[in-house]
Amino acid sequence: MKKISFIGLGNMGLPMALNLMHKDFDILSFDISEEARLSASSKGLKVAGDVDHLFKDTDCLITMLPAGNNVEDLFINEGVLSGISSDVLVIDCSTIDPATAKKISSESRELGISMLDAPVSGGVSGAEKGTLTFIVGGLERDVKRATPVLLAMGNKIFHAGDGGSGQVAKICNNMLLAIHMCGTAETLAMGVENGLDPKILSEIMKNSSGGNWSLDTYNPYPGVMNDVPANHDYKGGFLNSLMLKDLTLARNLALDSDSMTPMGKIAKELYEEMIEQGFNDLDFSSIQKRYLE
Ligand code: NAD
Repeated sequence: MKKISFIGLGNMGLPMALNLMHKDFDILSFDISEEARLSASSKGLKVAGDVDHLFKDTDCLITMLPAGNNVEDLFINEGVLSGISSDVLVIDCSTIDPATAKKISSESRELGISMLDAPVSGGVSGAEKGTLTFIVGGLERDVKRATPVLLAMGNKIFHAGDGGSGQVAKICNNMLLAIHMCGTAETLAMGVENGLDPKILSEIMKNSSGGNWSLDTYNPYPGVMNDVPANHDYKGGFLNSLMLKDLTLARNLALDSDSMTPMGKIAKELYEEMIEQGFNDLDFSSIQKRYLE
């Protein structure tokens, strides 16, 4: 596995492709945006002028696109899937709805093409540092084949099940993340409104049964922890707009499977309010602001 075609050079895709290049993979990349193509070539990546000029003899095709409709357009409507050889391993790292992931996975299988859905956790800093976690759906043998490529961009790989399962697992994780972030912000605000110091309350709950990742590692209350977005006006990190995207995927998945997810529904409504207030580009721990007004 040496030659890789990489499509989607945005906030995540560009650093991922650069990590592959620095680990000596031969990368030919593409993005529909000219600005993204220029930025990639200024950093030393080889960039194709259009999708048809990606490697003809590529070993692997990786995509990192915004949403399910972009992935479906590229693979099905633009005919990329029907145009590639059955030796190519296709890895879609975008976070998309599981229904689209399953549809593309089964169309690939009918064409004899190996495909994995491999959404990531770890954000832009994980993409830059090469410390992403890949949550993968597809056949075991294809996960083994993809491992050296994925480990050039990340340090953890989980095989969730067959095609589409990576997306289901990623959406489950992010729904839980939103729920414990909202719960943590809500609890800290109530403690402060009743005279407690947020640092002392955090320390008590961290060492009691209320401990959770949002409280222990990514505390949303300003001044409690260093080096978290709460201490930098909630700049950077994982944006509210992306959290709302994932909560919308979770809500649709719950409706499709008739799953009872009242907490996920409320978390989605809270993040919708953040977007209505114009906080799209703040980190998702800024939900704390909602409770401090
Ligand atoms: P982005 O919008 O920065 O980049 C997406 C890129 O895809 C853009 O440059 C766009 O021009 C390009 N693109 C769209 N359609 C295309 C097509 N048909 N052909 C070629 N290029 C095309 O998005 P991002 O932040 O890099 O996120 C990518 C995916 O990763 C999303 O699914 C997102 O949910 C997921 N994700 C993002 C983060 C994060 O923190 N940004 C974290 C985890 C997962």
